[in-house]
Amino acid sequence: MRLLEERILEQGQVRPGNVLKVDCFLNHQIDVELLDEIGKEFYRLFQDQPINKIVTIEASGIAIACMAAQHFHVPVVFAKKAKSLNIDGDVYTSNVHSFTYGKDYTITLAKKFLSEEDHVLLIDDFLANGKALHGLIDVCRQARATVEGIGICIEKGFQGGGDALREAGYHLESLAIIDRMFENSIEFRK
Ligand code: 5GP
Repeated sequence: MRLLEERILEQGQVRPGNVLKVDCFLNHQIDVELLDEIGKEFYRLFQDQPINKIVTIEASGIAIACMAAQHFHVPVVFAKKAKSLNIDGDVYTSNVHSFTYGKDYTITLAKKFLSEEDHVLLIDDFLANGKALHGLIDVCRQARATVEGIGICIEKGFQGGGDALREAGYHLESLAIIDRMFENSIEFRK
């Protein structure tokens, strides 16, 4: 998506440890007009799938998922990162290793919001090694929900998580795929 690539080139900052900062427009300050275009693009890419729910992970995925959901006319459910007691066994849980913070955390999602009747589009801001998505896929597997597709804003192709998911058969669409990035240059996959 040219608009997103242009914005990454204009405002993205490459930080040590292969981290791209896009907090000017995507995950701290949010450019709602850009997100609106992103939502439309996800709809264009996945409109033929029988999607009845969008699932994402807090916090950065929520705004993006909501913009897409307006076009699908479906609810958004977000997995929570905060520790939630599972006393009644009423939540699905999965462990995720955080790329940006370098530690593990547990995601939880209430069982009442995801079931075998659901056909899910997973959405997130970044895809690096794929750990966050594997957590969401694991939660969908526990719920017996069908993953119809995965929509990502920025995939760091050189970290391999995206290609592994494609090889595993998932319909994954990333709006910008970065093949190489250095302090002063970012190269996108053609
Ligand atoms: P993964 O689990 O695929 O290794 O990493 C994806 C998750 O880590 C995303 O949910 C995102 O929040 C975070 N992340 C990974 N790489 C980056 C990055 O370069 N920049 C930012 N801002 N977040 C990232």
